[in-house]
Amino acid sequence: MSKIFNRRRLLKLLGMTALGTSVSNCVTPSAAATTNWGYIGKQGPEYWAKLSPDFELCYTGKRQTPIDLQVSSVKSLDKNNQDLLVVKYQPTPLNLINNGKTIQVNYQPGSFIESDRQIYHLLQFHFHHPSEHHINGEEYDMELHFVHRSQAGDLAVVGVFLKAGDFNPNLQTIWDAIPQKPGEENRLKDTIINASILLPAERRFLTYSGSLTTPPCSENVKWYIMETPIEVSREQIAKFTQLFPDNARPIQALNQRVVFESTNAEKT
Ligand SMILES: [Zn+2]
Repeated sequence: MSKIFNRRRLLKLLGMTALGTSVSNCVTPSAAATTNWGYIGKQGPEYWAKLSPDFELCYTGKRQTPIDLQVSSVKSLDKNNQDLLVVKYQPTPLNLINNGKTIQVNYQPGSFIESDRQIYHLLQFHFHHPSEHHINGEEYDMELHFVHRSQAGDLAVVGVFLKAGDFNPNLQTIWDAIPQKPGEENRLKDTIINASILLPAERRFLTYSGSLTTPPCSENVKWYIMETPIEVSREQIAKFTQLFPDNARPIQALNQRVVFESTNAEKT
């Protein structure tokens, strides 16, 4: 009990919320960072809620992610209102972390998306294998998550599917710098990347309200899933799966939620 209290007090002192720390759990003290959750056995997704009281939503939540996106049952977004996802990503020096759960690229301030008159700042992006979301019951080889946060603390994640195909030189810049051991970080001041080159040219997306796919499974995360995948080679996929054979949370119930589809997403 006192441990939880101290952690909360520490977060308060640092001016952080529990939700805020969960998206960058490699560098800040939080239950998500210190509790030994994982993807297999007694630390796997079915047990997350039992590992810490902070992870209760992983079991009790009704708006959890990922979900199976059934394209035949989506609704169109209102053209005049929400039907736009503006992406304004700036170049950043490559800063990579192997946090033991995934490879995460931390982003410098100044990049953001705008949707439904809200600005969400890009914090980091990271990878899952296989994909967490499914489309019409099918998984992709991998999924990339761009994690954003608004000034008010709301989260928005843009998901991009990766499928086996052509070698991807943009991904390779990142892959060449992957730290092999959990906890290792690699800061390359002279290697500049831009997250936008990992987005598909066609920006039609599906959107719904969900959660983080890792503990504490916090809800009210806006999801934007690009319908068009990007291609990466089988060798590039293998390089990730050597380190992370399976870091995808299983599909969650849709419950009362509706998935919307953009009709005219902006290309930037
Ligand atoms: Zn993710």
